[in-house]
Amino acid sequence: MDVDIVCVGFGPAIGGFLTTLSKQILKEDGTPAVESAAAPGMPPQVVCYERADDIGFGVSGVVTPARSIKASFPDLDLAQIPMSAPVTSEKVAYLLDPIGASRRSAALRIADGLLQAFRWALPVRHQAFELPWVPKFLRKHDGLVLSIGQFMQWVGAQAMNSGAVQVWPGTPVASPLVEDGKVVGVRLIDQGTDKLGAPAAGFMPGMDIRAALTVVGDGPVGTIGRQLDECFGLPEGNRQHDWAVGMKMVVDLPAQSALEPGAVFHTFGYPEPEIFGFMYVHPGRIASLGIFVPSWFDNPVRTAYRYLQHWMMHPYLWRFLEGGTLRSWGAKTLQESGRRGEPRLAGDGFARVGEGSGSTNVLTGSGVDEAWATGALLAEGVIELLKAGKPFTKANLEQAYVRRRRESWVDREGLVAERARDGFQRGVVTGLIGMGLTGLTRGRLNLRGRPMPPHRRVPTVEEYYAGRIPEREIARLREDCAVRAVSLHGALMDRAGWPAIPIDGKLLVSHQDALLMGGKVQAPSGYADHVVFLHPAVCQQCTVRICIDACSGQAITPGPDGVPAFDREKCVYCGACLWNCSQPRPGDPAKANIEFRAGAGGLHSAEN
Ligand SMILES: Cc1cc2nc3c(=O)[nH]c(=O)nc-3n(C[C@H](O)[C@H](O)[C@H](O)COP(=O)(O)OP(=O)(O)OC[C@H]3O[C@@H](n4cnc5c(N)ncnc54)[C@H](O)[C@@H]3O)c2cc1C
Ligand code: SF4
Ligand code: SF4
Repeated sequence: MDVDIVCVGFGPAIGGFLTTLSKQILKEDGTPAVESAAAPGMPPQVVCYERADDIGFGVSGVVTPARSIKASFPDLDLAQIPMSAPVTSEKVAYLLDPIGASRRSAALRIADGLLQAFRWALPVRHQAFELPWVPKFLRKHDGLVLSIGQFMQWVGAQAMNSGAVQVWPGTPVASPLVEDGKVVGVRLIDQGTDKLGAPAAGFMPGMDIRAALTVVGDGPVGTIGRQLDECFGLPEGNRQHDWAVGMKMVVDLPAQSALEPGAVFHTFGYPEPEIFGFMYVHPGRIASLGIFVPSWFDNPVRTAYRYLQHWMMHPYLWRFLEGGTLRSWGAKTLQESGRRGEPRLAGDGFARVGEGSGSTNVLTGSGVDEAWATGALLAEGVIELLKAGKPFTKANLEQAYVRRRRESWVDREGLVAERARDGFQRGVVTGLIGMGLTGLTRGRLNLRGRPMPPHRRVPTVEEYYAGRIPEREIARLREDCAVRAVSLHGALMDRAGWPAIPIDGKLLVSHQDALLMGGKVQAPSGYADHVVFLHPAVCQQCTVRICIDACSGQAITPGPDGVPAFDREKCVYCGACLWNCSQPRPGDPAKANIEFRAGAGGLHSAEN
């Protein structure tokens, strides 16, 4: 099939692209403002393919300054977007450890002791120190609390109602089509295959979609973006070693909840000092809440799910949540290298937008506004080229898009943020000081630190728990977990002093129930596995099997012959396994031993 523009992924970045484009390729009377080359006489044919089974089945916080979104919709009426509210209050709190199980450095223990000793004079309540003011660089004043799912469904309806663009969910893109160094479109995924991708009953090879311009906005673990990186390489000096696993719940707050819509809470310090948390309140007594487990958290057995539950039960949050009910659950990773992880933004026949293009601001923790803005900037450049009748060559896209991006606030603020998190490589306290320094000096002063890939930084279980759990006991727990085919993480947390979660079947549910009730995770049959353990021998010798413990959906389990097993029906497509894998790929140590391919299914919820 031939079109003019093909887009990969329908997140905020492509939302910004299609919204801006659709307002300009048709005149007010519906006639084309510019003509299609693929279908002469018609407006440009613009098609977007989204992997998830429906529009808006994504995961995000989300509180956003929404500058670019408001610019795209000057008459934005929040009443049209379910679960949206203007930000009404913002709080940042340092959570003390009420249980005594988290692994805190000596510096943090001293700080905790001082806070406890002077709590009569300080704003220390509910085992938390509420910062008396929110630093300017973190403020989302004038911003919006949204559900990314509800917002994207609304955006999708606006774009498609314009008649100018088409969005096809449930259609994963398998690969870019590259000919003579030029991207000429995409190939969709094969259907009717077995787990390994071999043709089976009802086989249908993926269709080729040829286009003058391919716009890639496939997010932090997008396979198309990564294939382009393999083909064209990253710009000199850029690398993508910083990431976080985000896991969240959407909760019906208890009937007596007095939380105002638009209330925003950010936390740090607990359940482990490295883990950040958020809670945003929507209208209708609904809240979005969750945690980020960052790449510099060195625990080799880390399951975000149990940490999420302990975080929710902290007295500072539990006073709002107790008696609530789970509505939805989900997980997704974030590419947190920011501008330093920027790939090639444009080449012959293609352009990159959104988080996968390094737009996320790692100082302000803002990704949606930036992603949207990059899409809108590209659309302006594309309109300029279409009107001038110029082809989508690298040089023309550099001039029309990359130049706009370099002159935009996204780039300016991205540069300020570039080194904001480096200090975390040397510890949480150094990291927090470094972030504050970067924020307060607008990037002029930063603390140094060198982000490293997991295989260079993740310690063994024995090293991580040294001094807390004797090695022979770890060996016993490991054997026991292997016999029961369960991950080691739960057993180690129990042993480290974390209490059992009092499952209530309503809000505190088992991990499997979160998948079924909250994520409503599904996987249509007839597709190949998208998580592939590339070199089985490497897995067999791997002693830090972080892929199993870190899996957000319990989709990776100990398998036969020492190679993990993957169950597509539980996979939420979060990408945590790809980022976390503890072993380098033979012959290409910059990459891990897991390959993450295009896949169907995943979460079935548009509330996250
Ligand atoms: C838990 C969590 C909380 C967050 N909180 C906030 C917040 O409060 N504020 C904020 O500003 N940001 C937040 N973020 C970050 C924000 O969500 C991202 O920066 C933003 O969504 C990036 O938008 P994007 O369009 O670039 O990518 P994405 O939103 O990731 O969209 C990419 C789309 O591409 C699709 N796709 C991928 N591969 C393919 C393929 N092969 N074929 C077809 N489609 C494909 C995906 O399914 C997805 O829909 C949060 C993220 C997480 C995970
Ligand atoms: S996928 Fe990576 S972390 Fe998992 S067993 Fe294989 S090498 Fe180890
Ligand atoms: S297997 Fe799926 S659910 Fe598990 S970590 Fe990987 S992408 Fe996430």
